[in-house]
This record gives sequence, structure tokens and C-alpha cells, in this order.
Amino acid sequence: MKLTKDNYYSNEANRHYMSVSQFKGFVPAYDGCEARAMAELSGTYQRPQKDAFDEGHYLHSWNEGTLDEFKANNPDLYSSRGPTSGQLKSNFQHCNKMIEVLERDPLAMKALAGQKEVILTGELFGIPWKVMLDSYQGEKGLFADLKALKEMDGKWWNKEAQAYENFLDHYGYTIQMGVYAEIERQATGRSNWLIPHMVIVTKQDPPDHEIIYFDYDAIQSALMIVEKHIDRVKAVKYGQAEPVRCEKCDYCRGTKVIKSIKHYAELALY
Ligand SMILES: [Zn+2]
Repeated sequence: MKLTKDNYYSNEANRHYMSVSQFKGFVPAYDGCEARAMAELSGTYQRPQKDAFDEGHYLHSWNEGTLDEFKANNPDLYSSRGPTSGQLKSNFQHCNKMIEVLERDPLAMKALAGQKEVILTGELFGIPWKVMLDSYQGEKGLFADLKALKEMDGKWWNKEAQAYENFLDHYGYTIQMGVYAEIERQATGRSNWLIPHMVIVTKQDPPDHEIIYFDYDAIQSALMIVEKHIDRVKAVKYGQAEPVRCEKCDYCRGTKVIKSIKHYAELALY
């Protein structure tokens, strides 16, 4: 299957290729749910689109240089009633502030330079994968991913590791960078990995921003985490194992039927 910008996020493309977000969607450690992931692939369920998703799109179309087109094609970015009618909705006005923060920082612009939204494919752990690099500078030895986050502080409890983790591990960003580096290496026949960068800008007012780079150790351990989970993900995706319901996500709550009653002590906190 030939991937383009138009079909990259389609169910058909997701059925054919694994992606980092699809992988995370299967793995409970990343708030994934096998039942929801399978319902999404079959097209019977769509996750509710949150504004945060559109804000991410807004920022990415700026990075791609197509913000004007994006705004023209999405009239719902603008308020349609009241005294602010015709103006950008306030959350997108705030996106403009986030963009200004990046535009006035030479290092951020340097990291985000290069080819934009580059689609690459490769094979990892026996199945085809797809990746899209936000900014790609192969000749300079790096690629960058642009992220709009609520904030960079905070810690999350990892049940499996029984330890707190930061946003990079919690949201699986390290995995994303590792898989992107490996697929890029394969696609170009390169012997070494490029250095993955993340350009982060927060939704705080005023926004914070940071450029984070990853090293080969991080790439290696990211690939090991994928390896640890991939057999189960493959078995479920290709129909050899029944998907497990998490009974917590929006899909499971929406389709829940109680099969047995719970002993009160089953309600563990961690
Ligand atoms: Zn679920």
C-alpha cells in the first residue's frame, strides 16, 4: 500500500501498517486497550476528537508551512457568534502565541528546519511500520518531532515498574523517537541512527518550550520495550488472540456489560 498524506491516518493504512500510536493503543502501560484498538481498526469505533487534537494540527500545519490553507479549510477554528464572531477561537489564538514563542527562538527554528511531514516505512519485529517525521534533516544527522503539551512538569505512577515516570516515558515519546530512528535508518540504508529531537511547546500562558534530544541508548531501550510487547500486539491485531477489554476506556465503558460482581477488595488503588 502506497502511503500519502491523505491516507496516512486512514483505517486501511493502520490495518496494513503498525505505527507508534497504534502500538501504544494496544498496550495498557500506555493507556492502551486491545478491545478499543481493534474496534478502531475495524472502523466500528472512533475516538472522540478533542480540541487538543486540532490544536496539534494547527501547530503542525504552521510547521509544514500550510497554516493559511488549514485555517481556510477549517471554519470551525473561528467563533461564529457573539462579539468575537469571525475571530479565531481563544484556544487557537493561544496557539498563535505558542508559534510566536518558537519563531523567536533560533535554536527551535533550527531544529524544526528541513523537509516537513516525511512519510517513511520499514519492517520492525516482522511487521510493516509507518512513521511521519515532522522535520527531517538527514544530511545534518537529525530529525525533530513537534509537540504541544499541557506542561512538562508532573510525574505519573507506572504500575508495571512500580515507579514514577516523567512525561517522556508516560506518553511513550521515547518509544516514538526510537522507532522513528530505526525506520529512518532502514529506509535510507544508513548504518547509524539519526539523533531524534523533540521540540516541545506548552499550552501554558506564557508558553514554555524546550528542545530535547535522545541518544543511542535511549533508542536501543525504546526498541527493547517495543520488542517486549510486540508479540502480544501482533497476535491480537492479526486475529490469533482475543482482544482484552480494559473496562476503563471510553470504548469499554460505552459497551460494558457486567459479567460477574466484584469483591470489594478487588478495587486496588495502584
Ligand atoms: Zn478499554
